[in-house]
Amino acid sequence: MAETVFARIIRRELPAQIEYEDEEVIAFRDINPQAPVHILVVPKKPIPTLNDAAEEDIPLLGKLLWVARHLAQQLGIAERGYRLVLNCNSEAGQTVFHLHLHLLGGRPLHWPPG
Ligand code: AMP
Repeated sequence: MAETVFARIIRRELPAQIEYEDEEVIAFRDINPQAPVHILVVPKKPIPTLNDAAEEDIPLLGKLLWVARHLAQQLGIAERGYRLVLNCNSEAGQTVFHLHLHLLGGRPLHWPPG
């Protein structure tokens, strides 16, 4: 797998505004926020895309949702509402090939997305 900017953030080689971290997951503010709350929830395991996740990763994938929910509650957007986005591969708009969940909220979010 090619080195990504997220691997460098995990290793603290690049700065990030970290909102959550444990042994398996890190979450930090998106550098180009699309909403007042825009956080990336990232497994430390370098899985390039959802297509590359293995069956053994099922608990880790579930943990990403759990951390996103925790952050939504902590940041006060849980009751108003929030959106989780996972872009898989280029046609979906994935630009960083290290699996991640976008947590977006703090403003009305239109549907369907572009
Ligand atoms: P995606 O298009 O789903 O691959 O999302 C990648 C996201 O990573 C984009 O929203 C970028 O703004 C964000 N991003 C890229 N580099 C950084 C960085 N150094 N720190 C925080 N977010 C970043």
